[in-house]
Amino acid sequence: MVRDATEAAIRAVLNEKDFLNELDDKIGDGDHGLNMARGAQAAHEALAELDEEAGLKEVLQAVGEAVTANVGGSAGPLYGAAFSEAARVVDEDCALDAATLEKIFTAMVAEIQKRGNADRGDKTMLDVLIPIRDSFAAENCAGKSFEDILTQARDAARDGLEFTKTIAARKGRAASIGDKSIGCEDPGAASSLIIFRALCAVWKDSLRE
Ligand SMILES: [Mg+2]
Repeated sequence: MVRDATEAAIRAVLNEKDFLNELDDKIGDGDHGLNMARGAQAAHEALAELDEEAGLKEVLQAVGEAVTANVGGSAGPLYGAAFSEAARVVDEDCALDAATLEKIFTAMVAEIQKRGNADRGDKTMLDVLIPIRDSFAAENCAGKSFEDILTQARDAARDGLEFTKTIAARKGRAASIGDKSIGCEDPGAASSLIIFRALCAVWKDSLRE
């Protein structure tokens, strides 16, 4: 199921390559879709090398290494490092639940904050990833089904991307155009939502099987 979800996320990134390039073209250098597609293809090839039974930790590790080794730009290395850090913090046989997802997104956010020296409100992927992390916090999940928790996280991610339209970029290439970036979605935030939405769809389907 981890593998199915990851492959779905890879397909989603490949499908949205042109859309992500267009977003990046408005406020950056127009290569985010290309970089993400390169990472997705590398991740797909890395997964093919893994054992059928590979769990979450191994999948995250393989994807992190593949993305780091193959993707340039600003977002690629951040994603690669974030996936590798997520792999480091999860247990070998962890269940896919809110607690595990909180652990993963906490690690990813911390790694991206450290390397990118960015925070919420800077118009980056963190504007999607931090709301996802927060939605998995124990106090926000009490008494809810896993399906409802995923819906809540996906909605928070979508709202996070909408938020990036309302603010000026303070990090990366887009920062150089400042207020002119208002009205545009951040491409990195968009790719984070695309990946997360695809993962959620597979996880939700698996709950109904
Ligand atoms: Mg770019």
